[in-house]
Parts: sequence; structure tokens; C-alpha cells
Amino acid sequence: MPYTAKTIEYLKRTSPAQSEFYQATQEVLLSLRPLLDKEKKYQRYNIIERLVEPERQIMFKITWMDDEGMVQVNKGYRIEFNSALGPYKGGLRFHHSVNAGIIKFLGFEQIFKNALTGLQLGGGKGGSNFDPKGKSEGEIMRFCQAFMSELYRHIGPTTDVPAGDIGVGGREIGYMFGQYKKLTGRYEGILTGKGLNWGGSLARTEATGYGTVYFAQNMLEAAGNSLEGKTCVVSGAGNVAIYTIEKLYELGAIPISASDSRGTIYDKEGINLNTLKELKENKKVSLVHYLDEHPHAIYTPVELYDTKMNPVWAISCDVAFPCATQNELNENAAKELIKNGCICVSEGANMPSTADAVDLFIGTKNFLYGPGKAANAGGVATSQLEMSQNASMQSWDFETVDNKLKNIMKGIYISCSETAKEYNSTNNFVLGANIAGFKKVADAMIDQGSV
Ligand code: NDP
Repeated sequence: MPYTAKTIEYLKRTSPAQSEFYQATQEVLLSLRPLLDKEKKYQRYNIIERLVEPERQIMFKITWMDDEGMVQVNKGYRIEFNSALGPYKGGLRFHHSVNAGIIKFLGFEQIFKNALTGLQLGGGKGGSNFDPKGKSEGEIMRFCQAFMSELYRHIGPTTDVPAGDIGVGGREIGYMFGQYKKLTGRYEGILTGKGLNWGGSLARTEATGYGTVYFAQNMLEAAGNSLEGKTCVVSGAGNVAIYTIEKLYELGAIPISASDSRGTIYDKEGINLNTLKELKENKKVSLVHYLDEHPHAIYTPVELYDTKMNPVWAISCDVAFPCATQNELNENAAKELIKNGCICVSEGANMPSTADAVDLFIGTKNFLYGPGKAANAGGVATSQLEMSQNASMQSWDFETVDNKLKNIMKGIYISCSETAKEYNSTNNFVLGANIAGFKKVADAMIDQGSV
């Protein structure tokens, strides 16, 4: 049996009901085929079997009291996947859909993403099935404290440094940092995405969105094109989507959509960034309120979505930025984008395109497709810049961090592009990202022996 099928069969048997994890693993293994055929050492050292098994999987119970005095129970996870290149690094997701399979897929992707940055970062991910929606400020704080009351014993500035992800922003990082400090008595860089006046880095909030746009810019420039004047669709309305939209405006593009879990907004005049920030960062309310100030925009609630796809992908555009969640862009959506003239997709979210959609992008001549593990690596890269500043007790200005981010994204683009060319697959950045990331991790694993 070929090793991809054999590995997936092994995972299904030993880690049942983790479809997103099998999907992410399959994509990586299929891309690695030309490398594994050429370089036998990876099979000799059994790297694939070693890589798909996390080094450590921590699952724990979180109990916290709601505002009515009821004790609530949630599940907590931290998957420390691979530490060949450095301390485990990867975000925490608080969302009702979180389960072990989702955290494992995110942790697995994180290994390669972190390797691509060229920085010393291992891969990990964590979170909880806690649903922050509709919770009071006090409930969010008590939950974060309860979460950290277990997590604190597993993390450290040189061992495992979590960050934010869906449902975890600056506020949640603050509550968790405070609890860590209270429990350990130590003030140290055990989380990134911290507040600016207590160890955070300028440009960390913006980094994932900005980086995703820089990646698109690199792809387009190499093809003799640019973002200037391009009409762009964006999904999501959270951290990544907001700063993708901000950077698109700075580079002269016109972002015309955003979406949240309740609906999609289409503003052909361009999304008003101030309104979007006010609704999602400050008031934390539904996008439907965008219409209060911009009644000309079109809002489609999820109840009216065509079952075949999110309407955001039916809007005619030049470039698309999926920035909400996994598997939000399916084959129908990919067909629609291409049919309507889209020439480039740069993924801010993790694995937002289904396998069929990815095949279509890669199979379409001259289409530029930046997979999440490369295109959204700016967030984790800037987390590492935050760790560097913490370790040296320095604070760099915004421009310094943003320039470093820009250079890192360029480096990631070059690494993906040159690797793709080396394997006669020009512009196949999925293959480029997977092989380039894998080689770094696998070579380090071989050097470090069977540990
Ligand atoms: P946020 O929680 O800030 O925002 C997520 C946005 O996506 C929200 O608008 C949310 O809607 C929407 N959304 C979430 N789940 C769904 C769903 N199932 N269906 C429809 N809409 C949904 O998260 P981030 O912006 O931080 O993360 C977005 C993506 O980017 C994720 O895939 C994450 O893993 C990835 N990513 C994030 C990084 C970071 O630095 N934050 C780094 C690298 C990748 P609503 O407002 O209604 O909740």
C-alpha cells in the first residue's frame, strides 16, 4: 500500500473521528511524494510515522462558574506536536466546534508553517470547546483563569508559548497571563499577543492579516502584476480579516466584503474599515449592524445562503482572501471564483479551502494560490519577534516590526517558489510549502536522534 494511504489508514484506526486531521495530513503527504522518492533517508528514519504522532497530547477539564452561580464544564486541549526546531508554538482557539481532531489538524499545520518562517519554533496548538458568544465579561475572565489554572503547568518561555486564535484575542490573553503570574509568581513570556504596555509587540495584532496580503503581493509581483486597483473579497470579520482589509487599502486595493458566523456583507464601494472595527473589535456585535451606517450595502444572513457555498465567493473579484475558518471555500466556490475572473487566492485562515478546491486552484493555468501555512505565517513569525523582544527586554517600533514581517513573508514566498521550481511544479506553492517546511523539520529530527 502506498505510504499516504497506509498512514491515513493508520491514523483512522488509532485516532478515530478526526476528519480535519486526516485532511491536513493527506495534503502534506501527497505533496511530499517527489521528495520521498528522491531522498530515501526520510523513509529510512521513519520520519512520516514519527511526524504524524504528536509528542504530547494534554486534555483537561475546565470548571468555572457562570453569572447565575451554576458550575459549567468544558474540555481543554494542548497538543505539543513537534519540538525539533524550537519550543512548541501555536495559538489557543475558543470555539464551540473545538475537538481533538481540529486541534490536531491545526497543530500539524503549525509544524510546517513555523518551519517556513526560518525561525526557531516548534509546532503546537490548543483550545477549548468553550463558546465565548453571549458570555459576560466576568464569565470570560473566570473561564480564562480556570483554563490557565491547568495549562500553566505545561507551558514556559523556552518550552511551549501559546498565542491567540479564533475566540482568543488581547482580552483573553490578558486574563490568562494574569492567572499564570498569580499561580507561578513569575513575569515571563509564556504567551504572545500580550498588551503593549506589558510585554506585547507592536504590529502583532496586525501581523497575520498584513502578512497574508504581503504574500499575495509577492505572488502577484512575481507574475508581473500588483494589488493596486484590484477588487478583493475577504471572508471573516475577526482579527485576520480586519487587518487584511486594512493592508489592502494601504496597497491601493479595494476590499468589498466581510463575513461572520451569522452573515455576509457586500459593499461595492469598499468595506468601511472604521465601521468594521467598531462593530467587531469594540461592540462585538453582528455584521448586520453594518447596514445602520451603510444602508447601500447588501447583507445576506446565513439562513439565506445557497447550500452549495457561502455567497462571498460568488462576488466578482480579482483576488480572494478566505480569513474565517477551515473548509469555508469548497469546490463550487472555487469554480465560481475562477469563472468570475479571480486570479489569486491568499489564505489568512488555516485550511479554508477544501481539498477539491485546492486541486482546482493548482490545476488552473496561471492561477496563484497561497496556502494558509505559508500565507498566514506572519502571525506566528511576529509572535517570535515578540518573544525576542521579551527575552532582550527591548521594544521595537511599529515600522521595525512591520519591516521584519515583510522580509519574513518575502523569505517564505521565495522558499515556496524555489522549492516548487526545483520539483518542476512552478507556482505549486502547496508542494513548495510542504516540502520546504518538511525538510527543515525532518533534517532536524534526524540530527537529534530517535527521541
Ligand atoms: P477571530 O475569532 O478574531 O475571527 C474569526 C472570524 O471568523 C469571526 O468573524 C467569526 O465570526 C468568523 N467565523 C469563525 N468560525 C466561523 C464559522 N464556522 N463559520 C463562519 N464564520 C466563522 O479569529 P482570527 O481572525 O484570529 O482567525 C481566523 C482564521 O485565521 C482561523 O482559521 C485561524 O486559525 C487563522 N489564523 C489566525 C491567526 C492569528 O494570529 N489570529 C494566525 C494564523 C491563522 P463571528 O464574529 O460571528 O464569531
